[in-house]
Amino acid sequence: MYNITLIPGDGTGPEISEAAKRVIEATGIPIKWDIQEAGLDVFEKEGNPLPQRVLDSIKKNKVAIKGPITTPVGTGFRSVNVTLRQTLDLYCCLRPSRTFKGVRTRFQDVDLVIVRENTEDLYAGIEFAKGSEDVKKLIGLIHELTGKTIRSDSGISIKPISVYGTERIVRFAFEYARKNKRRKVTAVHKANIMKYSDGLFLETARNVATRYPDIEFEDRIVDNMCMQLVQKPELYDVIVLPNLYGDVVSDLAAGLIGGLGVAPGANLGEECAVFEPVHGSAPKYKGLNKVNPLAMILSGVMMLRHLQEFQAAQRLETAVASVIEEGKNVTYDMKPAPDDPSAATTSRMADAIIEKLR
Ligand code: NAD
Repeated sequence: MYNITLIPGDGTGPEISEAAKRVIEATGIPIKWDIQEAGLDVFEKEGNPLPQRVLDSIKKNKVAIKGPITTPVGTGFRSVNVTLRQTLDLYCCLRPSRTFKGVRTRFQDVDLVIVRENTEDLYAGIEFAKGSEDVKKLIGLIHELTGKTIRSDSGISIKPISVYGTERIVRFAFEYARKNKRRKVTAVHKANIMKYSDGLFLETARNVATRYPDIEFEDRIVDNMCMQLVQKPELYDVIVLPNLYGDVVSDLAAGLIGGLGVAPGANLGEECAVFEPVHGSAPKYKGLNKVNPLAMILSGVMMLRHLQEFQAAQRLETAVASVIEEGKNVTYDMKPAPDDPSAATTSRMADAIIEKLR
């Protein structure tokens, strides 16, 4: 029996979480779910969107699967997702992006793995608000150190990138490549402009690469990478990036394989693993039983593999692939037109996958 923390999330999170839970249970793997609410509603009730009980549950169970959680823009609480990754030191965000047959997309045969650093960079959460005493001090210090003037009405976010953080994420990318028989790792950066942060990322990545002579290594500047991915995605394999570029390129990769509805992910650390879709809480569809549960279900497939339940993972993935290929019981985003009246609901799509598992 596996003890697994399930965080339903908010917005459309609870609907897709329920679908994913039912489908995972249908594989027959014995799981005791520890259901932990977090997010917007919990913030309104408990004053904290990520109560300690949630973190304790994940630390105890070591494995969690979560639905998306809304982050208020500009004001309100800091991203629960970012806090979770930082607190549990889930330093790697792993996002495989491959096309399933039958998915409507401009690209066929895309098979990329995005390995995103999850704890550093501009997402480190070190920010200084416009007009604050701290920002004034910082602007003064920067002027003293560099002679450069930052406008007094600026807000400032800090971008730390370390050798330690880069080494472990690049090592992860190479180890993943080796274990999964992938041929190449591409490191992505903007080292030509940010010499001391992205430059360090690149230099460190090159050093790590020398320890993996069996795997090809190359680097790309992030803007060029974006263009190349939409022109010739087949040239790329495992892609390792600092946090911010990783976030952006993950969505780009999701677009290549048919959209956010089908893009799964995992946040991995030395101790714990939290599986979650790439997409957000899509709040405008909340309660409509409408959105695609596949990203969360495929995150469940990744979770089963993490638990070394390879057979169950394969069966589930095959069931998903077959429902996609049939194209009948799929949600609106997988139909030729988004207002297609034959679109399945979230729960119907889950039922169709469960029927394939029987
Ligand atoms: P989003 O991913 O929630 O939605 C963008 C659009 O993508 C939706 O309007 C919808 O058209 C489509 N979409 C997303 N999920 C879908 C699904 N399962 N099926 C079908 N279509 C789907 O992005 P957003 O609107 O930028 O963010 C909404 C909220 O989610 C924000 O508060 C954001 O901070 C948060 N967010 C959370 C996470 C997370 O929990 N890890 C990740 C990204 C965004």
